[in-house]
Amino acid sequence: MALHVKPQDTIFNHQILLGGLILTVLDLGFLFLTSFGDPGIIPRNSKPPESPDDDNDVCKSASFDWLSGKPGSLRLPRIKEVKLATGETVQVKFCETCLLYRTPRASHCSICNNCVQKFDHHCPWVGQCIGERNYPFFICFISSTTTLCIYVFACSWVNILRQDCGFWASVSRDAISVILILYCFIVVWFVGGLTVFHFYLISTNQTTYESFRYRYDRKTNPFNKGILNNFRQVFFPRIPPSLVNFRAWAPEEDEGLSVNGSKHNSDVETGVPKLLQKIDFDGFESNSPSISKNHNFKDKPQFDRA
Ligand SMILES: [Zn+2]
Ligand SMILES: [Zn+2]
Repeated sequence: MALHVKPQDTIFNHQILLGGLILTVLDLGFLFLTSFGDPGIIPRNSKPPESPDDDNDVCKSASFDWLSGKPGSLRLPRIKEVKLATGETVQVKFCETCLLYRTPRASHCSICNNCVQKFDHHCPWVGQCIGERNYPFFICFISSTTTLCIYVFACSWVNILRQDCGFWASVSRDAISVILILYCFIVVWFVGGLTVFHFYLISTNQTTYESFRYRYDRKTNPFNKGILNNFRQVFFPRIPPSLVNFRAWAPEEDEGLSVNGSKHNSDVETGVPKLLQKIDFDGFESNSPSISKNHNFKDKPQFDRA
């Protein structure tokens, strides 16, 4: 389309190109924010909690399906109930990989191998989990992609129809516009459908994960605050700070670490590789908190942020 802009053109003289450029920059910006940010990863524990009653938020054990029945092993219920700020009670599951009780609406992503707050889905197109911290950017990304598709589709049509040499002659002369029309027509069904679906999810305050599991089909959604408030929550979000210190030392893999935490490598505690342990790391602990020091509910996460 840019190839056909002539100085004497009034409609196509830069304004439309500028509009396309702004939409493209916005689209790439939202893609960047979605893809490269922390979706809301919950830091793992290096050992499981001592007892399920450690946490004051626990109302009672909802399940007596213990993690392990072996003598001397950890006895934690797989599911427990926590109270939201609204007073409603929801169930949370214990994650055997991350050794923690997930926050409400969190789930473990099998691809990223992390528990993610308000897990929506893992998006292979952006190569990232979509969770509490990047969902607002994700919805802006797919909305701007849909808008860009419609915009290019419409402008390509105008580009063909404005020529005075007849419709078929214009089509044969302007192959780029024809390709763009076909491309946008196909793409907009996918990305437009996805956008509409996510607007429906926002209006009902559901995640994709919850929707696919029919979680609120038979019971009321405790997170639904009405359409306006649900939209406000996504488009004027209070994005919580990341719980992961990405600049901290990575703990070494401990093959012997079991669910009951019987064998525990000191490297996991400190998060410092053996080779570097002889170096004086005074102040390291205080300046850069280790991932292993983060304990799930002891940090008092805001359950009702959703
Ligand atoms: Zn997990
Ligand atoms: Zn993921």
